[in-house]
Amino acid sequence: MVEKKKRERPAFNRSIAAAISKHYKDVQTNKPMAYLLMASNPLVEIAYAARIQPAFPENYACACAAGHASAGYCETAEAYNYSPDICSYCRNHLGYIYGPGENPPTGGIGEPDLLLITSSACTHYFKWWDALHEIYGKPLIFINTPRVMEPQSKPDFYMDYAMREIEQAIGEIEKAVGVKITNDKLSEAVKLSGEVVDYWQKLLEMQKAVPCPMDYSDLSNALFVLIVLAGTQEGVDLMRETYNETKQRVNEGKGILSKDEERHRLLWINIPFWYKLGIFGYFEDRGCVFPLSDYTHHIWGTTRMDGSKPIESLARKALEGELNTSVDDQIDKLLKDAKEYHIDGVIAHSNRSCRVLSVGMLDAVDIIREELNIPALVLDCDHTDERVYSDAEIMNRIDAFLEMLA
Ligand code: SF4
Repeated sequence: MVEKKKRERPAFNRSIAAAISKHYKDVQTNKPMAYLLMASNPLVEIAYAARIQPAFPENYACACAAGHASAGYCETAEAYNYSPDICSYCRNHLGYIYGPGENPPTGGIGEPDLLLITSSACTHYFKWWDALHEIYGKPLIFINTPRVMEPQSKPDFYMDYAMREIEQAIGEIEKAVGVKITNDKLSEAVKLSGEVVDYWQKLLEMQKAVPCPMDYSDLSNALFVLIVLAGTQEGVDLMRETYNETKQRVNEGKGILSKDEERHRLLWINIPFWYKLGIFGYFEDRGCVFPLSDYTHHIWGTTRMDGSKPIESLARKALEGELNTSVDDQIDKLLKDAKEYHIDGVIAHSNRSCRVLSVGMLDAVDIIREELNIPALVLDCDHTDERVYSDAEIMNRIDAFLEMLA
């Protein structure tokens, strides 16, 4: 019987938890408030520059899943004829809107005054935001950008086009909320966003250390800062605090496990099961850490932002990121990083309702397995809809994998 250990988590988690609570109070009180999506999204900095409070229905779905409310919300959405094949983030949100219940997690996410969307992510968003437009009747403003299949040979007109789309969206937002977004305000938001990204990149770099200083849940918490608070001083301060503490841990040789305990360094592919984050503790009790994931490393925070070139930086942000690129590019990044992070095993989540991150995943797993000669386990599940999760089946498969790894 493996002993279940209580481990001390890095202290920055408490500061981030306080920021998350504040955010969910702000989305219900601050006006105007806009719904935004979480993919590498240039509208976040624009919203902050316009003093619009952003809210993120996907992040709310994570909170609902962690509070075990998502299964009920997904069921409600399905009762309103939304197919179970639709992303469970989306079903969670629509189910919450149609039947929030008496005590929704975090007190709810509030009603938007504006709907902002970019095409640089997944196609689900368009129908989702379209449904929100129908439900709330609020202005819907979007940025349309091309998909970048080969980042190394991206044509110049992609940038010109994305920059024009961003300028046009800024004009529409100004008109919708009656606020002038000056160049100074936009530059300031992009500069602050750049500082957050710089700390984030240095933070990821430290995950290469042995022992690994942060686990998947710690990094997921820091993702909240990277995505939701990009463009704010609060975001810079929190990311600096996270970075400084992690740097100190690395300098002192402190890890999630001690150097002797850390026996395997695994790669997690796709979104975690938000309702079962304790799974990472289960791996840790068996000597395994997760220094690397495509979800934490490749989707967001990949664009260096320059406050002196705000529109150009925002256009690059819209075009970069894993959700706007090809499967080949994703596999190349995983192979390169798996070597640098000293990965010796793979857990891949074949995500039932996020096909965007699951398409090509089996090929990626085969290529990594063959090229790096490391074992891999594919788990069929869902990121938010807990009804798809079978504890007995998943844990049996994990135990068998761990036995093989030992
Ligand atoms: S399908 Fe995947 S990428 Fe699209 S919204 Fe859902 S989780 Fe995000």
